Amino acid sequence: MSNPDIVVAGGGIGGLSSAFALARLGLRVRVLEQAQEFGEVGAGIQLAPNCTRILDAYGLLEKAKARGVVPDRMVMRDAVDGSELTSLDLRDLERRYGFPYLVIHRSDLHALFLEACREAGVELLTEQRVTSYTQEAGTASATTQEAGTAAVATQDGTVHEAAVVIAADGLHSVARRLLVDDQPVSSAYVAYRGTVPIGDVGRPVDLSEVVVYVGPRCHFVHYGLRGGDLLNQVAVFESPKAVAGLDDWGTPDELDSAFTGACDVVRQGLPHMWRDKWWRMYDRDPIDTWVAGRIALLGDAAHPPLQYMAQGAIMAIEDGWVLAQHVDRLRSDDGTVDWAGVLAAYDAVRPQHCRRVLETARVWGELWHLDGVPREQRNVLLRSRPVDDHSFTDWIYGPTALFPEDEPAMFEPIPLSSADQAV
Ligand code: FAD
Repeated sequence: MSNPDIVVAGGGIGGLSSAFALARLGLRVRVLEQAQEFGEVGAGIQLAPNCTRILDAYGLLEKAKARGVVPDRMVMRDAVDGSELTSLDLRDLERRYGFPYLVIHRSDLHALFLEACREAGVELLTEQRVTSYTQEAGTASATTQEAGTAAVATQDGTVHEAAVVIAADGLHSVARRLLVDDQPVSSAYVAYRGTVPIGDVGRPVDLSEVVVYVGPRCHFVHYGLRGGDLLNQVAVFESPKAVAGLDDWGTPDELDSAFTGACDVVRQGLPHMWRDKWWRMYDRDPIDTWVAGRIALLGDAAHPPLQYMAQGAIMAIEDGWVLAQHVDRLRSDDGTVDWAGVLAAYDAVRPQHCRRVLETARVWGELWHLDGVPREQRNVLLRSRPVDDHSFTDWIYGPTALFPEDEPAMFEPIPLSSADQAV
């Protein structure tokens, strides 16, 4: 292949979904992934209507539904006594936003985008570690060397040149250094994950619900995957060793003691967690510019969140959708794309929205993990919340996050119910 139009650094959910979004417009896209194979590590992922709306537009929603589960309700419970605090009726959410709330194995979602990329003719290269970015007027390039060698910025690796480089290289993004000299921020929390065949769970579980148990310095989530064949569980807690400043933190001994005060249902789930790997929870402070010339950050490279809003992968998918919409809008009849205009439009709206998600996620996590009197106060507040109050979800799940108000809406707004309009 000659020079592509776009080089994407990183073949995670963000990189592949944006590659597909651009390739389906007829652009030539090359993805460079550092790993030996394309794939995802981890378990389930929640996809709210702001994501399933995009999957539908891509023609991928039915496949995603077939591989996942569409639950009826999301329930928040107190992790200590197990009592219900509040809930979201997900069928109601689907009526309001027009698209379902879906839970799916992240490797199934990743595979869906990989297949779509293959069918759309994306050039998919593995063992390509991007080590440096350079640009001249009108072009950008990503320099690569074989994975496993020293990650040194050098001009003697392969040079991939394109009109635009999208850096979707995750939390530890190399490209982010072009824009800001920052570091990941540790939350001192760690996540354990695990999937278990539903027949081996050993306790009754209602797979029509996504459940989160919130407790002092910990929480526990479970929901079904793969049509209900698997139960996905996530156990998250604050590591005392991290708080004490030790390097070796988040280890399984800490998992065992973190949930001693939790209710039976949560403790019965813990033996099913994987104990050979765990995920320390980092985010970064939001930044307001993701574009440096012809290089654009996307996904966790631009906006790695704490996961409490379940929007990290979704924001990455939204990023690619928005980029592609602006390409479509700013492409002339002869195929020439006004890249400066596209990137400016992308940068005008996405950082603003994602800043709000990142900041809300931090506060949301604090609320989940309260102890003592603040925990009791939180519980009173959550129990009194009307379950049909959508003020918390409209700004995230509605389509307005994708475009500034003065730009044409790319999605038909879903009419609110008469009850909502009366409020
Ligand atoms: P990554 O997944 O990090 O992908 C980056 C890719 O780039 C990788 O393949 C990597 O190998 C490659 N790469 C890195 N450096 C280079 C390089 N130099 N050269 C070439 N390739 C490179 N999000 C949701 O939307 N819903 C959820 O329910 C949800 N739950 C979560 C639960 C937990 C416990 C956690 C930890 C996260 C959760 N998230 C969720 C967040 C979500 O997983 C991430 O935000 C999302 O996966 C980010 O995708 P990405 O493609 O931007 O980055």
